Amino acid sequence: MTLLQLHEPGETPLPHEGEQTLAVGIDLGTTNSVIAFSALGKPEVLRDAAGSGLIPSVVAYTEHGPVVGSAAQARLVDAPETVVSSVKRLMGRGAADVKTLAGTLPYRFDAADGGMVRLLIGDRRLTPVEVSAEILRALKIQAEQHLGREVAKAVVTVPAYFDDAARLATKDAARLAGLEVLRLVNEPTAAALAYGLDKAAEGIYAVYDLGGGTFDISILRLEKGIFQVLATGGDAALGGDDFDHAIAEHWLADRRSELGSEPITASEAKQTLNSARSAKEALTQREAGDFPVMLHGKTTLHRLTRLALDKLIQPWVEKTIAICRQVVSDARLDLSEIQGVVLVGGSTRVPQVRRAVESFFGKPPLSDINPDEVVALGAALQAEALTQGSDTLLLDVLPLSLGIETMGGLVEKVVDRNTPIPVAKAQEFTTYQDGQAAMLVHVVQGERETVADCRSLARFVLAGIPPMTAGAARIRVTFQVDADGLLTVSAAEKTTGVEQRVEVKPSYGLSEEEMARILEESLEHGRADMERRLLIENRVEGQRVLLALQSALAADASMLDAGEAERIEKARLGLARAIEGEDRDRIKAAVEALEEAARPFAERRMDRAIRAGLAGHSIDEFKGDPGGCLAPDPEEEKL
Ligand code: ADP
Ligand code: MG
Repeated sequence: MTLLQLHEPGETPLPHEGEQTLAVGIDLGTTNSVIAFSALGKPEVLRDAAGSGLIPSVVAYTEHGPVVGSAAQARLVDAPETVVSSVKRLMGRGAADVKTLAGTLPYRFDAADGGMVRLLIGDRRLTPVEVSAEILRALKIQAEQHLGREVAKAVVTVPAYFDDAARLATKDAARLAGLEVLRLVNEPTAAALAYGLDKAAEGIYAVYDLGGGTFDISILRLEKGIFQVLATGGDAALGGDDFDHAIAEHWLADRRSELGSEPITASEAKQTLNSARSAKEALTQREAGDFPVMLHGKTTLHRLTRLALDKLIQPWVEKTIAICRQVVSDARLDLSEIQGVVLVGGSTRVPQVRRAVESFFGKPPLSDINPDEVVALGAALQAEALTQGSDTLLLDVLPLSLGIETMGGLVEKVVDRNTPIPVAKAQEFTTYQDGQAAMLVHVVQGERETVADCRSLARFVLAGIPPMTAGAARIRVTFQVDADGLLTVSAAEKTTGVEQRVEVKPSYGLSEEEMARILEESLEHGRADMERRLLIENRVEGQRVLLALQSALAADASMLDAGEAERIEKARLGLARAIEGEDRDRIKAAVEALEEAARPFAERRMDRAIRAGLAGHSIDEFKGDPGGCLAPDPEEEKL
């Protein structure tokens, strides 16, 4: 992953580069996913044999392997323990986040090892990234069957509020599915593109997105061809599913006297919900209908009118409007400044929802394009623009500010939200203790002033700072954000020229080994290709270790005794030779051998550095108090 990050920042594919393989647009939704392809500026949803463009974002792990879509959804009734739905909610999430979700998702988690959450399905321990990759793989296959060509690249959409970790997780999932992500695009931005708003006059637009389980409202400002996200809001637990529940409960209440105290089974509840969903969707076209509900072996028909439905869902519709009001006021906007409203999400087909949106914004919303397909269509247009060298290249902006922790748990913002990306910015910091030899750089994302209120992305130590008096060191921390909003951070001490470049991975990203393991397991995309990539990654890692050793020896060779020097040299030669060869296991083993041989040396160096810097402090104290390690430089400058 580190390797990929090295290659990707700011890279925009060259025009006409994608002619061998096709590039598509993908809306990877919580409830449904959609894939679309655009040629000559005309995007089209790729449908299955039955004409449906919506693939339920549901994966079932059967004894014959994973199944995606309606087939997986069907198993929710009989074997719910093998089925994963709504996995998007877990993308990029860590143990702490998941605690707040516990109970709202129907499967078991393991968040014990601190890093990425695992779903426990049978004897599998799956990361959300792997589950999402199954969905993407199914979409890719569907598209290839449809287009008769290989599909290898995609623009994938993500919610505007997705942070770095969630974006990276989405990218990893695509990579596992054999798709190169040309660009991650915000869902509301994609919807605006589908309506051609990028070609419109500059202005402010609202995107109202009510899906199956989530509600998002985004306010976009279009200016000089750039969509800025002025404000976002929403409710991660409000959507069409709530409408289904309201209908199902209404029906169950009808039959309560007859059912008595006997509880209904999980499978009956699921079937009732399915029926409620069909009823709701049918009433978008009709005024009333009779719908079957099977309970305790007996099926009865229940009448539902549009009027009754409106009343049942009223509280949720009102709640979305209250959130819109709040977001518009947070953005310090007057409703009259909003030029248009775009409807997104299957639940905006409900007539009452449309009426409520129209009445709040005071103008008829844009709704000519299918609301559940509009995001994928916009993504497809962007994919075409990126591969065919169109002039309507979209510039996106950073969704949330990035900064680092400074003394006292405060956040010093380095790159502000809404900065057009790709971007590189640097800021200088200094030490606050005499002789401080190392500092912990803690990278956070968010809008709030204190670390506790922001999201922690990564921590790394910049070690080997020569002893200086407090405030004399000039530590330049550089943030580089690529076109997908993904971040690489490096830090360097300037006055002495001690440079240390550290690639930062969000704490919840997959580790290199994990990614390799998963890649190895997935035989979808050319084994040889994959071997090659893994070999290269191992070589790069080997070279990194050799370089690190070289600089350590240059500085501190005197700390070695003869026997140790000999062991290290032998291991170094072994690694140098392994890198020349083609055997990545050998490289890996050689890296480990060298690290093992050099470990006592590295530990002595580290000890000395820390002792020099932190006389009178314990190491634990140092580790636990990153806030004490950085001080904003009074003479800071930005690139
Ligand atoms: P997501 O963005 O969450 O993946 P979608 O935008 O596909 O989801 O929306 C799915 C929701 O839209 C479901 O609750 C579904 O019942 C609802 N929906 C789809 N079609 C209709 C319709 N005709 N009338 C009412 N609701 C609908
Ligand atoms: Mg959606």
